[in-house]
Amino acid sequence: MKHQQRVDFSKVSIDGGFWKAKQDMVAGTSLMAVYARFAETGRFEALKLNGVEGQPDTPHIFWDSDTAKWIESAAYVLQKRPNPELERLVDSLVDDMVESQMPDGYFQSHFQTVEPENRWTRRQDHELYCAGHLMEAAVAYYEATGKDAFLKMVCRMADHIERVFVREGSAKFHSPGHEEIELALVRLYHCTGERRYLELAEYFVNVRGTAKDHDSSYAWCNPRYYQAHLPVREQTTAEGHAVRAVYLYNAMARLALETGDERLCSAAKKIFNNIADRRMYITGGIGSSSVGEAFTVDYHLPNLTAYAESCAALGLALFAQQMAQIDEDARYADVAERAMYNGFLSSISLDGKAFFYENPLEIDPMLHHKDVSVDENKERFPIMQRKEVFECSCCPPNITRFIASIGNFLYTHERGMVYVHQYMESSARFETEAGPVSLVQRTAYPYDGAVAIDVQGVRELALRIPGWCGEWSAMVDGNAVQPQCRRGYALLALDGGSHTVELTLAMPVCLVAANPKVQQDAGRVAVMRGPLVYCLEGVDNGAYLRDIRVDRAADWSIGWENGLGVQALSCTGWRRRLDPAAPLYAPLQDDLEPASLKWIPYFAFANRGETEMIVWVQVR
Ligand SMILES: [Zn+2]
Repeated sequence: MKHQQRVDFSKVSIDGGFWKAKQDMVAGTSLMAVYARFAETGRFEALKLNGVEGQPDTPHIFWDSDTAKWIESAAYVLQKRPNPELERLVDSLVDDMVESQMPDGYFQSHFQTVEPENRWTRRQDHELYCAGHLMEAAVAYYEATGKDAFLKMVCRMADHIERVFVREGSAKFHSPGHEEIELALVRLYHCTGERRYLELAEYFVNVRGTAKDHDSSYAWCNPRYYQAHLPVREQTTAEGHAVRAVYLYNAMARLALETGDERLCSAAKKIFNNIADRRMYITGGIGSSSVGEAFTVDYHLPNLTAYAESCAALGLALFAQQMAQIDEDARYADVAERAMYNGFLSSISLDGKAFFYENPLEIDPMLHHKDVSVDENKERFPIMQRKEVFECSCCPPNITRFIASIGNFLYTHERGMVYVHQYMESSARFETEAGPVSLVQRTAYPYDGAVAIDVQGVRELALRIPGWCGEWSAMVDGNAVQPQCRRGYALLALDGGSHTVELTLAMPVCLVAANPKVQQDAGRVAVMRGPLVYCLEGVDNGAYLRDIRVDRAADWSIGWENGLGVQALSCTGWRRRLDPAAPLYAPLQDDLEPASLKWIPYFAFANRGETEMIVWVQVR
């Protein structure tokens, strides 16, 4: 098992290019847009435990987690961009929570307001989940500002949880219905040095799925839904609610890193392979069904009804990055990249104000209006336009915290070897076992495969050669080199001085086929260039996109789509002549006509009104 150290985003500055624009958008627009929606809906007022007028059952059980993720996002923004006004907003929320915390350390706005007698009685009610997000937010805020009131509050809460779940055993259940606190406790341990927080994380992971953990509080599902069907070390497939699942798997990988537990590492590896080989969309989306927001069975990846929750793609990227620290293999960073640029990034509008919860791979607006004879229980399809807030609003603040801390994905190191997992315009400075190093990346990635890295102090460099890349070359100080490759990383030996390493990754347009077992994609291909998945939209290509054929031998051109601010692809394809007088059925004819097709990156779909969209198209 490897033991790579991740370089924290606080040591990495995204100072230009693709992700700088996204971080500017989050800091300048999204963060306060989410704040305003949360304020309007009473989420912040709820922290004062006054209830919400006219709504007897609010605050909802998950509201504190929304608030926590907003604070965590604000903390990551503050880490890089001091902003006294933003800090005051956070301080005021922290004051309210500290004020509302009970003498025994408990804090949860729903239970304290609505049903205080039912604390720690129902596994499915998100108490531990909210506590976990508050811990992550408190650590982030402490690291960004040095202020410790929030950190002390969550430590009192963690102490309370340890007492109730471990020492007294007075809670009516043993592990969270929605995982998250496991990861948070590891972070709290690192921040405070209190080893019992790590042990509490281990307790929650180890008890899951054991005989002791059995309970019957969920009436409508079975333990697979919350990953308690087997002890975690015996689990081999990704099951149940996809967000819960990847948060657990991430925690398993994290604990394996902390404790060297080989069985935990091996289980996490098997589960990761099950996802990456059989249960993941080409976009990195996971959890293909809205029923239970869950994984289903191998190769079941429907496009029109894809659930693919934003939080699940994001969670998969985090799980993958965690795996990269314990198992040297570029496929982890490949999967993180796939999710990051596609199924995750589609979740936020190009103006940063609106969000998707679900990320389908095909949209046909007609289907949303087809059930004309019923008023209820119409067939469910993902919404076609992003929204500013959801009743269950887990995704928006998760998206903002992810983008604000994207620098976490770039580097790891072990015994002086520096691994470059992602390519982004950036500069970084950090300590390794072999001394201080600095790396400055200059690149127009993901639109261009040329990456120049000015390195200083590095003796061994491992550059990820992305799985999508068939042809690449490398130079050091202008001289071509032929580095040896190990598990997807090109290894360069340097002398620790100042050098410029240039990596050129060929980025031709690639037609990608799915495994024949994915029935939904049979006879179809997806278009990729570099890490980006592309799609067709009705607004560019007319109606009936399922009839379009892309030509295997097409000439592609690359252009800039000014209206969207993204790179677009064009080629000639084929479609059948649309004759208004054509009968419903007729003998097969050769009536294909050339059609010029315009493709935009999948992440940019649904930014120009309701329109058809398709990823998997026919091929000729
Ligand atoms: Zn979500």
